[in-house]
Amino acid sequence: MGSIGGSVPLGKSSQGYVMALDAGTTSVRAVLFDEYGCRVAQAQRSLTMLYPHPGWVEQDPVEILSRQIACMIEVQFKSGIHSDRIKSVGITNQRETVVVWDRRTGQPIYNAIVWQCRRTAPLVEELVERGYADLIRERTGLVPDAYFSATKIRWILDNVEGAREMADAGALMCGTIDTWLIYNLTHGLVHATDYTNASRTMLFDIKKLDWDDELCNIVGVPRSMLPECRPSAGGFGRVSSDIMTQHPPIAGVAGDQQASLFGHCCFEPGNVKNTYGTGCFMLMNVGTEPIFSQNGLVTTVGIADGTEVDYALEGSVFQAGSTIQWIRDELGLVETAAETSDIARSVPNTDGCYLVPAFTGLGAPWWNSDARGVVCGITRATNRARLVRAACESLAYQSYDVLKAMEADSGHSIPSLSADGGAARNEFIMQFQADLLDIEVVRAELSETTALGAAYLAGLATGFWADREELQTITAHSAIYVPGMEQTTREQLLAGWHEAVRRTLM
Ligand code: ADP
Repeated sequence: MGSIGGSVPLGKSSQGYVMALDAGTTSVRAVLFDEYGCRVAQAQRSLTMLYPHPGWVEQDPVEILSRQIACMIEVQFKSGIHSDRIKSVGITNQRETVVVWDRRTGQPIYNAIVWQCRRTAPLVEELVERGYADLIRERTGLVPDAYFSATKIRWILDNVEGAREMADAGALMCGTIDTWLIYNLTHGLVHATDYTNASRTMLFDIKKLDWDDELCNIVGVPRSMLPECRPSAGGFGRVSSDIMTQHPPIAGVAGDQQASLFGHCCFEPGNVKNTYGTGCFMLMNVGTEPIFSQNGLVTTVGIADGTEVDYALEGSVFQAGSTIQWIRDELGLVETAAETSDIARSVPNTDGCYLVPAFTGLGAPWWNSDARGVVCGITRATNRARLVRAACESLAYQSYDVLKAMEADSGHSIPSLSADGGAARNEFIMQFQADLLDIEVVRAELSETTALGAAYLAGLATGFWADREELQTITAHSAIYVPGMEQTTREQLLAGWHEAVRRTLM
């Protein structure tokens, strides 16, 4: 591992600042960046998760909005940087989560249904039974799933009294969280989303870059409810002056994973980023033509900062940092996530022990919801350190499988992997990832680049930064992990891992 420079000293910026709103699943933040892409100040508020029934996940849209606004105000007072020096605002958000509201009053008619919510699985099954899976895939690039927004909107229309009639009469509006924030921050002047968020709804034609009428009809969502779709960098109105006196423009919008792709400057086909959080989210820029996966990945709009869009292949690992939480909270093997790195490094290997955290099934490239986790290869030598190491290694093995699926689909061989997220702080995992993939893993300076990506989009659109080249020069890395594993060792380890994965599928 070697450290490289790239970060610029913090200081009062002469150029002004960009504010990024990062409306995540568990918290909302407002972050100020200076012209060097350095984070100068931030404010954060947590969000309440509501679980009204098993498998259902909701949030209060007004709480999301009011806590987001509270962060915008707090970060200005905390830093002494007020809206006269804030040149533009970018938004990035948890994707797929939807809000439906009354066009006349602006009031939500139901809670936000969160991406994790499984309540619409039967609706999706029905769509598949009716033979629409291929159409959905061709138009939207997605595998039909309750995860995406379309059936969540439909559920609200079917289950809230009077909603269907209102929708048919054009009296309702809907949108993902970016749209909900934009609508309210502009006092109802702008009802818009960006292509990356739209591409996660299962209603958006990713080639035409517009809503698909046929899909809207099939799913039962009137097009009149949907926001206008725009590129990620450009005009989304201005923040109203009662929130920010100088009403800066909202000039950048992207879903969280796409914002992260942008924040990593993955501008070229073959560039890949992996965010190691609770789960892992990996996106690969595949260029200006979409690639449809043969390996269980989804196709999505990756970058849309200009006239052309870059598509991305996306794959996720359901259990990543959550595996570390599991060995901490349920098994009591460690006290903190942070100590896992040193514990893992205290042994030379797991001695053939593997932990496959298929707690809720396996995602890409296996896609098996019946799979359940295993710990296998246990011998008398298996001890706490080896189990901790096996847990850490599982993040890297699962990411390896997703990346290989991307390589197979795209025909690109990946030269390096950009990493961020809470678990990317784990030195052991990063090094093991580089060793397994036999490529360099480059960890971003900021533990997550989502907010940075939103700031970059908003700053590019307003001339705060000149072009992508300038972004590349200011983007800082905290570490590069260089592979150093023998090929035979790698092959043996991977063979053992894939055998362990097979056992979860039994
Ligand atoms: P999210 O955005 O998904 O909430 P974060 O990016 O904040 O997640 O990362 C938090 C996750 O990373 C937790 O699941 C935690 O267990 C894991 N994590 C945090 N620090 C470490 C570490 N040093 N080593 C391994 N895992 C870690």
